[in-house]
Amino acid sequence: MRGVPQTITSTRPCPQCAAPIEADPRFADWCPACEWNLAPVQEPSRRRGERSRARSRARVERLYRALAARPPESDQHRSGAWVLAVLLATLVNLVTLAVLAGSLWLLVAGALVLKALALVGLGLAWLLRPRLGRWRAAEPGELTAAQAPVLHAVTARIAAALDTRTPDRIVVDHAYNASYARIGLRGRVQLTVGLPLWTALAEDERLALLGHELGHGSNGDQRRELWLMMAHSALTEWCRLLLPHFGYRFQRRGMRQAADTNLVTLFLQLLAQPVLLLLTVLNRLTERSSQQAEYLADNRAATVASSGAAERMLAKLMLHQSVQVRLGQQRSAAQRGGRTGRSGTAPVEEFWTGLREYLDSVPASERERRIRLSALEMTAVDTTHPPTHLRMRMRATRPDRAATVTVDPAEWAAIEAELAPARSRIGRQLLGW
Ligand SMILES: [Zn+2]
Ligand SMILES: [Zn+2]
Repeated sequence: MRGVPQTITSTRPCPQCAAPIEADPRFADWCPACEWNLAPVQEPSRRRGERSRARSRARVERLYRALAARPPESDQHRSGAWVLAVLLATLVNLVTLAVLAGSLWLLVAGALVLKALALVGLGLAWLLRPRLGRWRAAEPGELTAAQAPVLHAVTARIAAALDTRTPDRIVVDHAYNASYARIGLRGRVQLTVGLPLWTALAEDERLALLGHELGHGSNGDQRRELWLMMAHSALTEWCRLLLPHFGYRFQRRGMRQAADTNLVTLFLQLLAQPVLLLLTVLNRLTERSSQQAEYLADNRAATVASSGAAERMLAKLMLHQSVQVRLGQQRSAAQRGGRTGRSGTAPVEEFWTGLREYLDSVPASERERRIRLSALEMTAVDTTHPPTHLRMRMRATRPDRAATVTVDPAEWAAIEAELAPARSRIGRQLLGW
């Protein structure tokens, strides 16, 4: 680890309970004893959703407790919820098929007016089609096996250890995140690694990150099953058709919607209610499986890279917002500095080193604040992952594991060299050069 820059912190009493607060000028002051100023900014929109958030918080915590009580690799497929989800999906998919078949029949056998209707129906069927994503011949940010042979070899080694498909493509992007996607009918695998996150992680934590993502290949997530995915995307599309403002934010806020006086809009909103209900029910039925799948992927991360590495990787994921703030500061500093004389490689490399040093220097109190904020806000409830603090807590309850995949120092060095062009390109992009 590089030398950690020491920041001068001062201690002052909490204005609410007078307990000592360790103040670091770079972060918000808060009190671990009474949680004064834990969340400095309360957005009005967040306050509005308070009750529904409290409900989903309770649900996710219930799921956490149920899953923590079971072995990490326990089977999840034959649950009653899964059977219900499949039945519901069958109903939805039959409607889609009926739209398609009915339109085709009208097109062949119907009168002229009906043929026009058939075209509308075919358009609808096209919108309701399963969205499996399109596998493009080239993807921006892709690192081919020729460009990054060692990264591909290490990834293949992890996939083999987890008995899952080797990624068909590795993409490097600018997110403080990583992702795993199966694309198209053939289910080809695209692994995306965000360079800021990669940079923030130590070597064994990087291994844990790859282990988590590749663990998605065999973690039994029902939401990735084709039949259920088809139903989910059809229902989402119905919602988009009926509610022009529909999006993921809308799902999060539940059934409330901006008041619209237009009669047609009101009628469409009325029609949308049963569809929204079906979508909510489908999401609920697969929620347990989806959350379990993420904890399972974390377990795979521990299998590959050791429990300690998986825990430290999760702890760094918590710094997501600190990274955003830091990137914003560096971008504006770079803009002020102007482009001239700064287009060389050195400043971009300095940027990456600086980011790593900054993250290493985040004080324990700020890390603790992020963990408590995650618990308070449950930022990840309706997205794909359980909140990070629960993932960390789950890891802590599991028995210790040693790493099963090893990468030697020469290989790590080779990977860093392979990533150099991406580091320069993405660094520039993040700095706005
Ligand atoms: Zn206090
Ligand atoms: Zn995941």
